[in-house]
Amino acid sequence: MNCTSQDLQHVWNQYGSIMLTAHVSPDGDAIGSLLTLYHWLKTQGKHVVIVIDDDIDDKFNFLEDVNAIQKPAAVQTDDTWLSVVLDATSSDRCGKVAALMKGKVVNIDHHISNEHFADWELVRPDMAATGEILTELFQQWGAVMTAPMADALYMAIATDCGFFKFSNTTGHTLRMAASLVDNGARPNIISEHLEAQSLIKLRALSEVLKHIELFAGNTVAGISFTPDVLKHTGEHTGGYIDYARNVKGVDVAFTVKYISDTETRVSLRSKSIDVNAIAATFGGGGHVRAAGCTIAAPLAKAKKMLVKEIIRDK
Ligand code: AMP
Ligand code: MN
Ligand code: MN
Repeated sequence: MNCTSQDLQHVWNQYGSIMLTAHVSPDGDAIGSLLTLYHWLKTQGKHVVIVIDDDIDDKFNFLEDVNAIQKPAAVQTDDTWLSVVLDATSSDRCGKVAALMKGKVVNIDHHISNEHFADWELVRPDMAATGEILTELFQQWGAVMTAPMADALYMAIATDCGFFKFSNTTGHTLRMAASLVDNGARPNIISEHLEAQSLIKLRALSEVLKHIELFAGNTVAGISFTPDVLKHTGEHTGGYIDYARNVKGVDVAFTVKYISDTETRVSLRSKSIDVNAIAATFGGGGHVRAAGCTIAAPLAKAKKMLVKEIIRDK
């Protein structure tokens, strides 16, 4: 059951040491939400660490304190620590950080597939981003919103709703974003940093675009990140799915990425069908219009299984 903003304040008051974490392959919402809560909890006199079981894309380097994010092997906790899981549906989604959650756990999240695993939770699938939930919480707590906090939260919200273009954008999303701009968030600087591409990355994009395939009467578009394509792109492939999504007439976009000979990572986006349901058939989840899963099969087979499932649902 969801706790209130006051309940959460009581929880913070009980703890001196707090570990913050989010899902593997952290996106703008995960990073922005973590950095903001980190900043604020430190102003409350807490000993706070941020741990992510993954590399952080260097496009986030412009954010204050991004260097504070540590890998699980560098961190030790015990059961007197509070763990706060942001933007993730389960402790498993945080990879090896799950083993550092030795005491009580708070979960603040907006995924429809949330597994309700925490001791205290605030799960709001009606919100476009975890950053949107946090913005409202900070308002309810009467927190001082500094400009770096506002930048990070604005980025969190904007990246999860396609810069206010996706169907999860509500009046509330826009009101929260507007309040952040009033407190010093810089929409132009944030999009410049996130959109800026090195020439190497732009050339990688031209390679990726060659690999867009269409299915189901051109209503489904997919990109395969084989080891050969990954040589061009590197491991951070998160942004490319939007190019498949933007192909005219496409309703469902997906990427399949080589992890190992027996494991394939899948991302899904849609304009009308429920891709959370498709991801769920493979043990994953997410949102109705954006979801992911890992399929225990080689890439070519995983792609066939996925396309079959998408077409069944259309
Ligand atoms: P991605 O395609 O990895 O950007 O994921 C799309 C959305 O689905 C994000 O909000 C992810 O956090 C979420 N998601 C991805 N994989 C999973 C999973 N295995 N379980 C739950 N949520 C997921
Ligand atoms: Mn996320
Ligand atoms: Mn999110």
